[in-house]
Amino acid sequence: MDNVILKAENLIRTYKEGKVSTPVLRGASLEVRSGMMTAVIGRSGSGKSTLLHILGTLDTPDSGTVIFEGQDLTKLSEKQKAAFRARNLGFVYQFHHLLPDFSALENVMMPLLIGGLKASEAKERALEYLKLVGLEARLANRPGEMSGGERQRAAIARALCAHPKLVLADEPTGNLDAANAAQIFKLFRELTSKEDTAVVMVTHDNALASECDRVLTITDGMVADV
Ligand code: ADP
Ligand code: MG
Repeated sequence: MDNVILKAENLIRTYKEGKVSTPVLRGASLEVRSGMMTAVIGRSGSGKSTLLHILGTLDTPDSGTVIFEGQDLTKLSEKQKAAFRARNLGFVYQFHHLLPDFSALENVMMPLLIGGLKASEAKERALEYLKLVGLEARLANRPGEMSGGERQRAAIARALCAHPKLVLADEPTGNLDAANAAQIFKLFRELTSKEDTAVVMVTHDNALASECDRVLTITDGMVADV
């Protein structure tokens, strides 16, 4: 099976603040496959967010490699990393990170415009994705005028509308009730399987994790395949 899109090997990451050093990743390795949802679980502080940031080039490991389609991301310049992220990645966070002064439509259009799409094309694509996530009636609403579940659906539309190859989601259902969390998860799965996307989802919800195709556990800075 060669649908491995990303392979991380021997990731080591220690945070240093003054004389205090916190070893977080101590040789973590994993593979991520297209068309699959991979859950990452582990107790609070075990390094789940750190791992996701490294996979998404938002943080650099002290050593180790992150190979994406044959290219070592840890060797890219900051400018190359930004271009790589814009072209290939979608991020979804626990707290939506939507821009508060912009409408749902504008929020979803934004990364498409930054990515160079014409305004008319960006609008068409954003409308398509907002419809897919069931927000066609909320296009003009700002995040403050939407419910938690609606905001998270807008964030998913924003993350997926540029057709990223890899989606990194850090507790995307973490601040939702069980019913909303299940709905968001189902939507996520439908949209990503349509595009054969690779998804890595950090969650502390074991029930949701068990609905993913693979579950990885971080313990003592290492990643184990359950
Ligand atoms: P998780 O997402 O599993 O809760 P994190 O990756 O956020 O864990 O954090 C792992 C450990 O690293 C924690 O002990 C946390 O306090 C520490 N940590 C995270 N980010 C930083 C940082 N920027 N500077 C110093 N320590 C950090
Ligand atoms: Mg975290």
